[in-house]
Amino acid sequence: MINEKKNSQQKTLSFYYQCTECGSEYEITPEIMVCPICSRKQKNYEPLRGILSVEIAGELPDEFEILDILPVEKKYFPDIPVGDTPLWEPKNIRDELGFTNLFLKDDTLNPTGSLKDRASYLVAGFVRKHNINNIAVASTGNAASSMAGVGASAGISVTIFVPKNAPQAKLIQSLQYGARVIPVDGNYDYAFDISLEYSRITGALSRNTAYNPLTIEGKKTVSLEIFKQLGKAPDFIFVPVGDGVILAGVYKGFLDLKKLGYITDIPIVYGVQSQGSSAICDYFHTGKFTKSYSAETIADSIC
Ligand SMILES: [Zn+2]
Repeated sequence: MINEKKNSQQKTLSFYYQCTECGSEYEITPEIMVCPICSRKQKNYEPLRGILSVEIAGELPDEFEILDILPVEKKYFPDIPVGDTPLWEPKNIRDELGFTNLFLKDDTLNPTGSLKDRASYLVAGFVRKHNINNIAVASTGNAASSMAGVGASAGISVTIFVPKNAPQAKLIQSLQYGARVIPVDGNYDYAFDISLEYSRITGALSRNTAYNPLTIEGKKTVSLEIFKQLGKAPDFIFVPVGDGVILAGVYKGFLDLKKLGYITDIPIVYGVQSQGSSAICDYFHTGKFTKSYSAETIADSIC
């Protein structure tokens, strides 16, 4: 028994980046965001090349917290209550739809009101670990206000590049948190490019969604929580989709649970897009990426 306990205490996880395109492996450091080999082949208007995923190796101790499955040690995370959101059992919706085992994961109860806090939380912990005190992000709204809020709690300076069509209410939220908001006369793609140039010049860590691998990694915690709350993985999961990073994060959480031996099957994941912002859905139907996409939907910030 004592030996078992001792062995359990010795179990640890380690983390590294792996290129989803060529398989090269890298240490997780602030200097790397995309695979240096594959990103050299990047062409304009092409989907991002050399996307890195966080891979895990080793074993979890018998008793663990969700933060133990993230590539930043617990001591670096800011003191703000991100995650641990409720899993509602909505009786009226269940009755109306006839799905008696329907649950709603309510991530609006995160500190700034969105699931994106999960990514901001991990990025904030990461920059604290590496003694960086400035984060840059291009955003149409939610990612900006999330990073601004979580960054404020962590004492980190946040600079936000917003396209001219960004919802004003979201910008006000970022300003209230004390972020520096820089309007860009162009679309999101242009704000993205400007923010990367700013990071290159100033050393600010980029929190650009999808570009920084930790944004998908942080969002996976929603799946780890659902697993803990249900005591198992659900059969099906429906995810609202904009650029697909939440979708990828949800999937990654269940993938890690499978790798760690907690589940045998990953739930069937459905991505749901607004008709006015359906780039990924369109790709599935046509097999082609649209070069320039103008999203228009009342569900702001998924544009
Ligand atoms: Zn690569």
